[in-house]
Amino acid sequence: MDKFTVVITDCDHGSIEEEKSEMAAINARLVLLPAGMPNDLVESCARAEGIINQYALLTREFLERLPRCQVIARYGVGVDTIDLQAATDLGIIVANVPDYCIDEVADHSLALLLAVVRKTAFYDRRIKAGEWDFRPGMPIFRMRGKTMGLIGSGKIGMEVARRIASFGVRVIAYDPYLKPAELPFELVSLDYLLRESDFISIHCPLNEGTRHLVGTEAFEKMAKKPIIINTSRGPIIAEKALIAALQAGQVSGAGLDVLEKEPPDSASPLLKMGNVVLSPHVGFYSAASISELKRRTARNVAEVLTGKWPAAVVNKEVRGKTRAHFA
Ligand code: NAD
Repeated sequence: MDKFTVVITDCDHGSIEEEKSEMAAINARLVLLPAGMPNDLVESCARAEGIINQYALLTREFLERLPRCQVIARYGVGVDTIDLQAATDLGIIVANVPDYCIDEVADHSLALLLAVVRKTAFYDRRIKAGEWDFRPGMPIFRMRGKTMGLIGSGKIGMEVARRIASFGVRVIAYDPYLKPAELPFELVSLDYLLRESDFISIHCPLNEGTRHLVGTEAFEKMAKKPIIINTSRGPIIAEKALIAALQAGQVSGAGLDVLEKEPPDSASPLLKMGNVVLSPHVGFYSAASISELKRRTARNVAEVLTGKWPAAVVNKEVRGKTRAHFA
């Protein structure tokens, strides 16, 4: 006899094996709704004690019609699909998985940086076009002794710092919310970072304070013609200004996993630049990170339904007025 019903509103991960095994452990019936927003989403979710969500929008009107729901777990970090205030008002816990791909994004940032510095993508394109010659990529400079500036140094920035330090690269960071004590690198002003860095890697969140943080004014302050790496969010860089800075030689290369417009227009000059390496917003991904994401998302639901406060609650203010019962 199933003790609970848990509904996955939508999921494009291919399989739901991890979710199934987590739900089996608490005797929950797991229902995966068909692809696309079904018309009877409310009906399907009305009997559920737990909901797992990917893209479907869970509005206040929708949440008000789910009398049994105790928890909504979102795959991933962002919870912009869920009306958080409504969930809190209704006593529904919203949980996420904020750290399932830290290693992947840090590795990807290094992969982009190395591809630009060592020109591996450039050579690969030329060899496949029939040319075997290292000279077109000259000069290539030595990494040891260079300075890497991190804009934002939370979980991912910290891992990038750890990795790049082993290349003999000095790390400095601009992060207005960190305290210097116990950091393995120097915290500096944004102006100093722009002036001193040979590489600049962006790891702050996108918000109104960081949108176009790296724009014309910032590029003008970059004294060392740095390489820019962005695995965070596209709009943190003003893309037109970046293109102009690349064309003017103010910036000597870029490795971008994220763009202002994804995918880019086919006319984007970035697609033609030999010193720019692009990837299709894949930094989060490895087979292991997705498996971990799925398991931990389902576990957030299992924990609430078995009376435990889950690992990462987004609407912490719901505590004390939840529908769930905690030991
Ligand atoms: P985090 O919250 O651990 O760290 C973000 C850091 O940015 C914090 O230390 C914060 O103090 C700092 N910060 C905030 N505002 C700032 C500002 N105005 N200037 C400088 N620093 C500022 O987040 P994280 O886990 O390290 O993730 C960083 C970003 O990576 C996320 O916001 C997300 O956009 C991006 N991300 C991308 C992918 C991908 O697939 N490419 C995957 C996961 C995360």
